[in-house]
Amino acid sequence: MVILKALENLQFLEINDRIALISTDSRITLESLRNRKNRTYLIEKIRKKVIEMGNQNWKIKFNWIKAHAGHHGNELADQTAREASINSDINECYTRIPKSAVRRELRDYSATEWQSEWDITTKGVFTKLFFSNVTDRLKLKINVTPHFTTMETGLGNIKSYLLKYKIKDRPTCSCKRAEQTIDHIIFNCELVEKERDRLKAAVLRSENWPVSKDTLINKYSKGFKKSRTVYHSINYREIAHKITNLYLEK
Ligand SMILES: [Zn+2]
Repeated sequence: MVILKALENLQFLEINDRIALISTDSRITLESLRNRKNRTYLIEKIRKKVIEMGNQNWKIKFNWIKAHAGHHGNELADQTAREASINSDINECYTRIPKSAVRRELRDYSATEWQSEWDITTKGVFTKLFFSNVTDRLKLKINVTPHFTTMETGLGNIKSYLLKYKIKDRPTCSCKRAEQTIDHIIFNCELVEKERDRLKAAVLRSENWPVSKDTLINKYSKGFKKSRTVYHSINYREIAHKITNLYLEK
């Protein structure tokens, strides 16, 4: 911004020697000016200004100087900037916001809104046990399958649920030991002991078993494809998938 302002001021100086050297301590700015791929608003403005002034017989050069090294103009610019930053009476001369910042702000805003709705809703009580935080959920890349949804919602091909709708007459799990609920499947059912043992082994590296469902999802549901190491293949999604598959076949 300062460079653009300097150029604008120069342009209207009534002098014969239309040669100017702009010194800056910002390497980023100089590199951006040189980099043709950089299409940032301000950088483009500076380029256009230089071309425009070139047509008016100006010769503009840029160079880099070390900051805080006693260059008079540089020190003056720093001092002016400092004064401006603490003086609220000065009008802002640059109020444009980068698109990326707007996007980020909107994303944060909608996540906050979503979160507060999620916090007060009485729906999805069970799903909340897995996903208490909207932002964390948005970060997870989950391939949502019917099995997965069943595990996360407690609705679907689960006997305790099917009983409610009288599709099954008993809620007993195929292991015949208990009522088939999601918690039973994840934490107790002996039919998936092998899968659970592997999940447990992964969890036990950093915390105690059992962990909350929220932790299971957020920390132990990494995609298998990303890494072939054993660690990453120990996967909450795997257990969800295998278990529900097992029951589907019965
Ligand atoms: Zn069972």
